[in-house]
Amino acid sequence: MDIDKRFNIIKYYPLFLLILMAAYIAANKFSLAFTTMSEGMSIVWFQNGILLAAFLLRPVREWIWIALSIITAEVIADSSVFTPLQAFWFAMINLGETMLSAYLMQRLCTTHQSFNNIRFVLLFIVIALAINPSFSALFVELFYNTQIDVLDDFIASWRIRFFGDSLGILFLTPFILSWLEYPKKFLFTQHLYESIFTDTATIALAFSLFSIGFTPSVLPTTPMIFVLITLWIVYRNGLRSGMTMGMIISMIAIYYTIHHQGPFSVFTPVQNTLYIQEFIAALMTSTLFFGVLLRQVNETNDLLLQSNNALESLAQNLESEIQKKTAELQKANEMLMQLAITDPLTHIYNRRYLEENATREIAHAARYRTPLSLILFDIDFFKVINDTYGHQSGDNVLICITQSVKTRIRKDDIFARIGGEEFVLLLPSISVEQAVILAEEIKESIASLVIPSKSGSVSCTVSLGVSEFQPQFKSFPEFLNDADQKLYRAKESGRNTVIWE
Ligand code: GH3
Ligand code: MG
Ligand code: MG
Repeated sequence: MDIDKRFNIIKYYPLFLLILMAAYIAANKFSLAFTTMSEGMSIVWFQNGILLAAFLLRPVREWIWIALSIITAEVIADSSVFTPLQAFWFAMINLGETMLSAYLMQRLCTTHQSFNNIRFVLLFIVIALAINPSFSALFVELFYNTQIDVLDDFIASWRIRFFGDSLGILFLTPFILSWLEYPKKFLFTQHLYESIFTDTATIALAFSLFSIGFTPSVLPTTPMIFVLITLWIVYRNGLRSGMTMGMIISMIAIYYTIHHQGPFSVFTPVQNTLYIQEFIAALMTSTLFFGVLLRQVNETNDLLLQSNNALESLAQNLESEIQKKTAELQKANEMLMQLAITDPLTHIYNRRYLEENATREIAHAARYRTPLSLILFDIDFFKVINDTYGHQSGDNVLICITQSVKTRIRKDDIFARIGGEEFVLLLPSISVEQAVILAEEIKESIASLVIPSKSGSVSCTVSLGVSEFQPQFKSFPEFLNDADQKLYRAKESGRNTVIWE
């Protein structure tokens, strides 16, 4: 969790301090009531777990207020057993330990201070669970021996204090921070029925295993089986579920142990305490470590998956973009090709298209011995029309004549404008006789056109030369030339005429 997010968990700071003091006193009372052997040794001591979480939650500048609150809380909690001065020293030892842990963990892990981060967890284990509690246990032990009571076995007593403190931190600090980080995730969220079953079975097993009167031959299995079970729970339901289940198992074990039952009740009280503490330490640290490892693996997987998805959608976008551009390009190409073969004024074919396709039509006619005819026509006295009615009206005449001719031809015929007011009709499978009939029709229909213009209606005629392809024509220009000569003769003979011979 980001530092900023952590700092903002409780906005009203005095309330935070009050909750902290209450929790600290409650942890003290709870440890005494539920985890302390009748001989006075505490298996788990919860106070510093809360304190370390508090320091990790708040910025250093606020630590002084936490410290003052904790001293007050300690004096209140210990009022029935210790003098205020003794309580003050206990508070100072606890504060020193947890403050140093929090400071070092934050200094040595500058990025992502969270129990999701393996470096943070390693620092937590080494500093907050191992080094600092061992020193603070030493100070408490020395303080006890000098101030309160001289104990028989200094080392064993120190070790029990060290483990008790360390386990309390292991229980509570990751738990508190993890709940604050993901308040909406619950114990059973991932595999509901499976985890209800696993958790119930685990709790039942814990009750039966820790409650039976222990002799090595009777015990069906070792408490260490719970290490495997919590690892499984972590694997299926995540770190917090595993840690919570580990705590439940530990509390059941503690309950039976302080009531002198179960596998940790067969030796001397000191030995029993040491063994159950070792068991809980093994259970909880392996759970924590495995859980964090899994979280990191999953996070890395998620990141990989995310970047993979991003790449995929990028590739898809690129592909569709390319498809779009290709389609646009194709369309533009088609338009260009169309432009290249079309006459811009009349929108019929141009000379270029005619020449390109005439060769093919000639070859086809020669191979299949089918007739191929050509009508070439030119508007009569077009200059006069232009001069009389204007160039624009002349253009309009060209368009109207084109439209009129278009209604009389077939789809296979090629109709092209090859010069200013010269047109060609190439007619596959049409003999000269049929072509002449068509030419006459065209001549008549054009002569009967009345084309409106600004300065009155325009009428015009055309002269037409008709030719049929002959084997002696070597090329299309010769074919066209033959028709042109006939057109010339049509002009000569007075215009508005069809010549074919
Ligand atoms: P003829 O009967 O002998 O054919 O006489 P004509 O006046 O039609 O003579 P010609 O065929 O040589 O005339 C060509 C004229 O056509 C010259 C030019 O002014 C006109 N013209 C050529 N292209 C266009 C065009 O695109 N629009 C218009 N309005 N006039 C054109
Ligand atoms: Mg002309
Ligand atoms: Mg003309």
